[in-house]
Amino acid sequence: KNNETGFHANHTQSEKLYDTAKKIIPGGVSSPVRAIKPFPFYTASANGSKMYDADGNAFIDYCMAYGPAILGHNHPVIKQAISAQLDKGWLYGTPTELEIDLAKRIQSYFPSAEMMRFVSSGSEATMSAIRLARGFTKKNKIIKIEGGFHGAHDAVLVKAGSGATTHGEPNSPGIPADVTKNTLQVPYNDIEAMADVIEKNKNDMAAVIIEPVLGNIGPVLPKDGYLQELRKLTAENDCLLIFDEVITGFRLAAGGAQEYYNIKPDLTTLGKIVGGGMPVGVFGGRKEILELISPNGPVYQAGTFSGSPCSMAAGIATLDYMKQNNIWAALNKKGDAFRKSLSDIVADKKLDYYVGGIASLFVIFFGQKPANYQDVLKCDSASYMRFFERMLNDGVFLPPSQFETNFISTAHTDEDYEKTLLAVEKNLPKAK
Ligand code: PLP
Repeated sequence: KNNETGFHANHTQSEKLYDTAKKIIPGGVSSPVRAIKPFPFYTASANGSKMYDADGNAFIDYCMAYGPAILGHNHPVIKQAISAQLDKGWLYGTPTELEIDLAKRIQSYFPSAEMMRFVSSGSEATMSAIRLARGFTKKNKIIKIEGGFHGAHDAVLVKAGSGATTHGEPNSPGIPADVTKNTLQVPYNDIEAMADVIEKNKNDMAAVIIEPVLGNIGPVLPKDGYLQELRKLTAENDCLLIFDEVITGFRLAAGGAQEYYNIKPDLTTLGKIVGGGMPVGVFGGRKEILELISPNGPVYQAGTFSGSPCSMAAGIATLDYMKQNNIWAALNKKGDAFRKSLSDIVADKKLDYYVGGIASLFVIFFGQKPANYQDVLKCDSASYMRFFERMLNDGVFLPPSQFETNFISTAHTDEDYEKTLLAVEKNLPKAK
């Protein structure tokens, strides 16, 4: 075992749990991004900006459950909403008023979602949105962006970011080539490449699915005009535009990237924040498209846990709290200030690194400013992982991969930021 960093000096309990876990749960984890080497810490509890592991170590958290915890862990208002729902039972298999209440709130921020349906994860949302786009257009092909991650289902697990990048199996065994042959890819920020692929497949192009800000390899931001041109191009070619706002929804602005960049997609997928930390996904969009979903139309989609009352209650509480406290301006300002401080450290150290991000997302690219997936792949991932381990050892939990975004929340305090910056200064490598 690699003891060099001292990472697991006081992680005996986590190590023990891992030894047991890996015999019964592949890799000891329920999702691959969690597989930290030599073993992950096993979380016992979390509160605000902090996580506490089974050995009693505390970490300032910048993963924030990979996005949902925009108000911090264990938020009292969300907890109250979930526990009030628990008193009434937590699964019915019938519709509830909660679904209407949450849908109305979502629509007030995402007017492009004239109708919507709830599912249980972001993956289910993109899977359903793609099926619906194909059903509506009666075409088969979709375009996704290289490095874009839309969950782990067959149609989109092609050159995907997030854990799929880290683990180096973009085309996973088990996915028939017959399925992925209908998933075409183009680099992000390259409108010519997009136009070319659409033109060549004109008669069979159902949709483009895109994370408007490419969150799963960074984030990497859209070049000026890119999203506007994409909107125009897709409309001109009768090809639906699906904005996957599972990360950006309620994060960049209340109305997500579509509000931030003022673009109206045909379909939108949401997840993460909109369930307040309970499992959720949403797909919505133009009424005439959504009306095709069963039972109104022939495109089938269903789920035992869809619209789960606790998820709906947690989502409503989250959205109401965010609105009442108008969290975005202050949080995004914190993000700006924190990115600036990180950039200053990088500059002081004369490192050839780039601090990227937007709103409450940030990343230190161990390389040049990227425009797309290929650029991000050039980053010095090995150095990033050494940095990650040192930071963890100093009580700061960053994503265990260069290809993930960091999240801040309203629960992060000035003290958290100060401590983190000191640790960054200490742990970033020296310029060569
Ligand atoms: N879409 C995007 C942009 C995501 O970042 C993710 C997950 O990280 C997904 C979809 C899949 O969501 P879930 O993990 O809830 O299935």
